Amino acid sequence: MSDPIPLSIPHLNGNEGKYLRECLETNAVAAAGPFIQRFERLVADYVGAPHAVAVSSGTAAIHVALRALDVGPDDAVLVPDFTFAASVNPVIYCGALPILLDVDRRTCALDAGAVESFLRLECDRRPDGLRHRASGRRVRVVLPVHLYGHPADLDAIAALAKEHGLIVVEDAAECLGAKYKGRRVGSRGDLVCFSFNGNKVITSGAGGMVVGAREDWLRRVRHLVTQARAHPTEYLHDEIGFNYRMPAMNAALGCAQMENLDAHLARKRQISEAYAAALRGIPGLSLLREESWAWSTYWLNTILLEPGAADVAKVAEALRGQGIEARRVWPPLHAQPPYRECPYAGAPNGEWLYARGLNLPSSVGLQDDQLDRVVSAIRRAVGRG
Ligand SMILES: *Cc1c(COP(=O)(O)O)cnc(C)c1O
Repeated sequence: MSDPIPLSIPHLNGNEGKYLRECLETNAVAAAGPFIQRFERLVADYVGAPHAVAVSSGTAAIHVALRALDVGPDDAVLVPDFTFAASVNPVIYCGALPILLDVDRRTCALDAGAVESFLRLECDRRPDGLRHRASGRRVRVVLPVHLYGHPADLDAIAALAKEHGLIVVEDAAECLGAKYKGRRVGSRGDLVCFSFNGNKVITSGAGGMVVGAREDWLRRVRHLVTQARAHPTEYLHDEIGFNYRMPAMNAALGCAQMENLDAHLARKRQISEAYAAALRGIPGLSLLREESWAWSTYWLNTILLEPGAADVAKVAEALRGQGIEARRVWPPLHAQPPYRECPYAGAPNGEWLYARGLNLPSSVGLQDDQLDRVVSAIRRAVGRG
């Protein structure tokens, strides 16, 4: 069998080694040292956010963002049903209730229409805020996820949030560098969470970041991730904190990767163009492409296969048999055991996407001949070889 083609792996071709050696030589390997601040500044400046706090993972970023807003057992958070579990688990860590809403078929992101109907039909305005009628919980936060590199329709969601007094926490784990109406994701949300896991657009090995404009909120995030220490020298604490800091070695990797982010994004977009050109005209097959108002990172390219034309599970299997790591899109959460008790408003678009969607190998380092192999394998699998 020819070489395996992974879905999305790190691309390390810059100063990674140099910066890691610097950490070792200066004994700055733990969660302190100049690389952490530098990484925070690089990301904040790139996305256009005034404040940033580096953390140990994207999941930790979402968790601490919600905790910084005091999301707790009396609260509900509006989340997409169609996303990675790590978008929603932090809501449950807080003791809050995730309410699963549908996504848009074209962007794969939380559908503002679904949010609007939910708010109008299933919530009541009470003196202490908006309450979800069935559970009695206060609806305080809406958590759109920018899936596969494509931003959610932020204006529509922000308008609803404003009207109903909700805070917007964005899961931008897959979307570092993406733009919404010409502005980078991260430049406008209340709290925006990134991930630098090994499979993302850039990696710090493992890591995440919370960015935002509200200095008080970001100060609270930093406080919470450092065990909520309330005194500079004594171990005095004023609340329950976490050890969610990013180690300096991870920040060093992240700094080196940031220097190449533009190149990574350019290559990702080139890969997407190449897939689009090579897969054009195959009946029953389409490729998700960015909306006119969006600039996608194309973190993972996604094809949609019409069930009458091809069975997505079989195509995935056929590709895997040739060493090509293609993966079906996220299975909707409402049907999975840990989320069965979550209120679920119906998600026909998420189901629709799951019945059709397949993520294709999209690593920055994907070679043109590998891309050709993926395309030929798809053509064969759908009977168009
Ligand atoms: C990767 C990812 C996360 C979690 O990030 P980690 O750094 O792996 O914890 C959360 N949400 C989405 C949509 C992701 O893709």
